[in-house]
Amino acid sequence: MSLSIGLAPASRNEAVLPPASLGVIGSGQLGRMFIQAAQRLGYCAGVLSETAETPAAQVAHWTVIGSADHLPALSAFAEQARAITVEFENVSAPALRWLARRRLVRPGWRTLWISQNRLREKLFLARHDIPHAPWVPVRSQTELERAPSVIGMPLILKTAASGYDGKGQILVNKGSALSAAWVSLGCTPCVAEAWVDFAGEVSVVVARGCDGQAVCYPAALNRHERHILDSSLAPAPVGPIVAQEARRLALAAAQALETIGVLTVEFFVTSAGRLLVNEIAPRPHNSGHLTIEAAPTSQFEQQVRALCGLALGQTDLFMPAAMVNLLGDLWWSAGGEPCWEAAFRADPGASIHLYGKRTPEKGRKMGHVTVLDPDPETAVWRAMAVRSALVAGHQPP
Ligand code: AMP
Repeated sequence: MSLSIGLAPASRNEAVLPPASLGVIGSGQLGRMFIQAAQRLGYCAGVLSETAETPAAQVAHWTVIGSADHLPALSAFAEQARAITVEFENVSAPALRWLARRRLVRPGWRTLWISQNRLREKLFLARHDIPHAPWVPVRSQTELERAPSVIGMPLILKTAASGYDGKGQILVNKGSALSAAWVSLGCTPCVAEAWVDFAGEVSVVVARGCDGQAVCYPAALNRHERHILDSSLAPAPVGPIVAQEARRLALAAAQALETIGVLTVEFFVTSAGRLLVNEIAPRPHNSGHLTIEAAPTSQFEQQVRALCGLALGQTDLFMPAAMVNLLGDLWWSAGGEPCWEAAFRADPGASIHLYGKRTPEKGRKMGHVTVLDPDPETAVWRAMAVRSALVAGHQPP
């Protein structure tokens, strides 16, 4: 196999038009929905996937099996794709830089490098005056012991790298528990973050094009269960001032990062109505899945458009929308395959998405349900009723 792909992207300002071949690194549901959006626009879309039969590989026009850290696989992937994006932030920066010398890669390695490490992300937020919870770095026992005197108690210790859905983080309520918490996180570099007594959590999905123009969707209100997103509702019922400020801050973060692509900013909303950034994800987000049905252009189509240098699409919602996740837990509650007939019967207006995952582990995102309704709380209620039918459908009336 040749490792000498010398072709540089022809011009960073030249649009990549259908039926060009696009590639995504990572093959979960976000990669799957990116591919589906690209295919709808007439692109040929493929994936770099560690294994076959993944959610993205199932729908892709082409698949290269391998990891981004394996040069032959990366090279084969670059041979196939004219423009490349990612479905998650933890792609190694050297691999992205290698690709970027040969192909159009968006977002760029710098955006990913910042967002894949909480220490760098917090420094970025601080440097750009984007509000966030008080924090200190924890890279040594001395820094660990000093943390409570700087940010108070309780605090949350979070690993700087590789944390998601609440993994790699521990709530610490008293000083005597600090050391044990850090040991259980492997004594790796962490951030200690002040506990935020928030009234709610919202997120804003932004799309920024190669001309620096950016658009964003209305903020979504997110509810978590066991640190995993359970439901999203947009527009978030947080009042116009908070909603507007969330959009302003999310756009400011995207501009400061100079990212090209989709970027999601997650916020805590304090009871005083203050917004604090919790996390930045340089990609479409679970809370933006409802844009597939609720907006003229979904977050995945925006990812395609930004990658290809096309004009971005409209982000106004047709009407309020709610999304609930379908986790693997449903299979356990149902004692096997959930009752799909009951779910389809429960609400003909609901949109059911399944990601094609074969093993329903607890906490694993297997699909989601979206409902549009003029009344936001009714939208949530209807989406939840569809989910309940998946389990209740098996029970005798
Ligand atoms: P994260 O992985 O940082 O997004 O955290 C997952 C979830 O843990 C968040 O959505 C919050 O519900 C909770 N959480 C994280 N950090 C804090 C904090 N500093 N204060 C309160 N809750 C938090």
